[in-house]
Parts: sequence; C-alpha cells; structure tokens
Amino acid sequence: MSASPPSDYRSAAVTGIASPRLQKSLHGLQERFGKGAMEIWATMEDQEMRHRVKEARMNTFAHLDIILTELAENVRARGGQVHFAATAEDAIGYTLAVAKRNKVKRVVKGKSMTSMEINIDPALQGAGIEVVETDLGEYIIQLAGDKPSHIIAPCIHLDRNQIGELFADKLGIDYTNDPPTLTMAARKALREKMLGAEMGLTGCNLACAEIGQISLVSNEGNIRMATTMPPVLVALMGMERVVATLDEHREALQLLTRGAALQKLSTYVSFLGGPAGQDDPDGPREFHLVIIDNGRSKILADPEFREVLACIRCGACLNICPVYGKIGGHAYNSPYCGPIGAVVTPLLDGINKHADLCKGETLCGACKDICPVENDLPRMLSALRHTLAYGSDRWNTSQHSPGEAAVYSLWKLLITHPLLYRISLRLGRLFQRPFVRKGKMISKMAGLARGWTEGRDLPPLAGRTFAEVWKKKYAANRPQPSGSVNQNKEGS
Ligand code: SF4
Repeated sequence: MSASPPSDYRSAAVTGIASPRLQKSLHGLQERFGKGAMEIWATMEDQEMRHRVKEARMNTFAHLDIILTELAENVRARGGQVHFAATAEDAIGYTLAVAKRNKVKRVVKGKSMTSMEINIDPALQGAGIEVVETDLGEYIIQLAGDKPSHIIAPCIHLDRNQIGELFADKLGIDYTNDPPTLTMAARKALREKMLGAEMGLTGCNLACAEIGQISLVSNEGNIRMATTMPPVLVALMGMERVVATLDEHREALQLLTRGAALQKLSTYVSFLGGPAGQDDPDGPREFHLVIIDNGRSKILADPEFREVLACIRCGACLNICPVYGKIGGHAYNSPYCGPIGAVVTPLLDGINKHADLCKGETLCGACKDICPVENDLPRMLSALRHTLAYGSDRWNTSQHSPGEAAVYSLWKLLITHPLLYRISLRLGRLFQRPFVRKGKMISKMAGLARGWTEGRDLPPLAGRTFAEVWKKKYAANRPQPSGSVNQNKEGS
C-alpha cells in the first residue's frame, strides 16, 4: 500500500529545508533578532514590564465589550466612522462600499496583515481597483507575485540579488543588488502611486480606547503618507488590538518595537482617530475604523486559548523557533507564520484543516521565553493537539487520526501491563531483525512506522532492557539491609 501524499505543510517544509539561500537568511535573522531580543529582556531595567503588559491585556479581554465601545465612541466623537464586522466578508463588503461610494481607482496599503487575513485584495481588484502595497517588504512580495514569509520581514526568503532582478524586470531599472539604490527605486515608484491614490488601507498595531485612536509603527515613512495623502482612509483592526489606557499603550508599544526590531522606539509612530480637522494641513476627509471579529470571539470565549489574543504581532517568536528557522514561513500557508501562526491559524481557520501546523512545532519553549507578553504558546499547541487527539465539539474538531489514536491506546495498554510489555519487547526484538543494518542501526521501517526513519536512523531495541541488566548484574548481589522484612524478589 502506498503512503498518502504529503500535505502542503510537509512538502513546503521540505522545499524550505533544501534551499541554501533560505537557510542562510533564516540563520542570519535568528542570530541577530532572536538572540538580540533575549538579551534585551534579560538586561531590561524594568523586569516587571512584560508581566504588567500581559496582565493589562488579559484584563482588557475581561471587559472587551466596554473598552471597544469606548474606543468607538471616542472615534465617532472626532468625526470618524466605526463599523463592527463579524466576519471577513462583512469587513470586505463595508470597505468595498466605502471605495465605490468614493469612486476609488487606487488603494495604497500599509501594515496590512489583517487585510491578508480577510483576503481583501481580490475583492478590490475585482471591482477594478488597483491595490498597491507600500511597506517595502510587502511591495517586493507584491511585485514578485509571492507570499510573505515573516510577520515583520515578509521577504526574508529573498536575497538582494533576487530583488535586483525583480526590480530590473518590473520597474525597468538597470540591474543592481545595492540595497540603497534598490530602496530609492522603490521609493520613487511608490511615491508616484501614493500621489494618485484615492484611498489608504491600513492595519492597526494597537488602538487606545481612552484617546480613541489607533497607532501604527513604521521605519520607512510610508504609513504617514498612505494615511494622510489619500482623501479616504480605512483602518482594519482585529478586535483584540485595543488597550484601555494611554499608559498601557505606552508600555505595550515599548515591548512591540523591542521584540520586533530591537528598537526602543520605531522611527515613526502614527496616531490616527478621525478625519483631518479644519486647521489640519493634511489628512483624510473620511476616516473609517473597521473592528473585525472573524473568529476572535470564539477564541475569547475559551479560557484555554484566550491568551493568544494578547499577542502584539512582534514576530519575535519566529526569530527563535527552531522549526521556523529551518522550514521558513511559506510552509505555514498563512499570513501568520511561526509559532504564533501554528496556534492562531488553526483557531481562526479550522483546527483539522491546519492540523499539521500545531503538530509541527517542537514544544521546546523558546517562543514562550522570547514572547514580550509571555504567551504560553507551547501549552496552547499541546491543547490544540489534545483537541485533535480526542475531538472537540466546541471547536468542531473531529479526531484527526484514528490510526494514530489506536497506536497510542495500544501503547498505553502495553506500558500499564508489565507482562504484556515484556512480551512485546521480545516480539519487537524478533521482528526488527530484518531491518537492522550491519547489526547497528535501523535505516528503514515499514508501514505506519516508515515516517520515523525518513530523516534519520533509529537504534534497534537493545538485546536486554535496563531492568534485565540491573537484575542480573547488581540486584542479585545487593546487600540486604539488616533486619529487613520486606525483601522484594522482583527487584522492582
Ligand atoms: S506570540 Fe509573542 S513573540 Fe510571537 S508574535 Fe505574538 S507577541 Fe510576538
């Protein structure tokens, strides 16, 4: 019987591992940003800040309805419009209606991970609207017709030679692999696009209910232009991005920029919360804030997974994860990759559908150590695996692999019955003989067990167990304590 074909995750992981270029990029990323973030947390003066921010995030979730209402009221008081979108379709429909009403022909985007989550681009393009990414990395990805592979560094899988070839092809410049020259070429092309755009479309790093504004961090300056030059601005915000007070915002922001890029503060922090006032020299005529649920309420309602909503999307967990560091971001097939993607993508888009993601991580705990808000991703990965192993009505999850469940039930039976265990070991030693190469290692196993030897050799079962060796060599000669009445004949 032939093995089932590998899933996308597996084949994309194999492709990633086989690419020396990707391996070099990921190694460089993790050496610099993974180690750098750990050093920052270790040497930060205020060692309580991470804990405080996490606590504040969780407190916010306990009163999320009230805090979101306060945010919406404050935005509306400044002349902005707020729409609560229960689903991706709802958010797309609202944004499209705004664009059509304003006869928009071009949209410039920035910080657009949420827009990727709801997959808004095809809808806009289908309505005849040109969509242009303005974050440099996202722009490169868009030109290449590619997908992002990191939350903060979306084109980490491309090197400057590839980007030079891409720009020569798409922007009509002479080939160069000089980063400043390439950046200037992108800047020129993007400025022309921004000058003629009728609508800006952004995400939202954080939103502050107390002041009724969202904030966006950037190092390139594109966000300032994309949010102030077009006459209409739509900001898409996952409903968990809100914080209650400006003080909480300040601390969360400090963790975000440190975790994301080892910066005390990003080059630009933009606060937006309504249309331009009469005395403002620039700014949009219309401001729309779309607060998106799209599965978040379900996560909020489950104490097991609520914690994942505290994520501030800094990407630090990717920069230390040994799995992401080998397979890269494309294997996750989601805008959210790495350990955070392995938890949040199944929760938002189906646990069975994305079973490979939560089973692919190693549970080594590095992502928890580096996370600025101390998210216990390994615990949540284990909880996801539990729903796959046993099924879950709440998450509409069926048992992912009945065959695997049967194997583990058999294993449980064996290790809880010593006699059966000893018999199975003897049988195992017998059956393994044809597979042991040169009397040393097993290089290839058959049937269900073949996956174990696809990437490595296994040592065969030992001729004698530790208990048997112990019994024979030492237990027989062990001096008995004087006066002992409890002589255990089995030497257990
Ligand atoms: S889980 Fe933590 S480390 Fe990972 S992206 Fe979210 S906040 Fe950053």
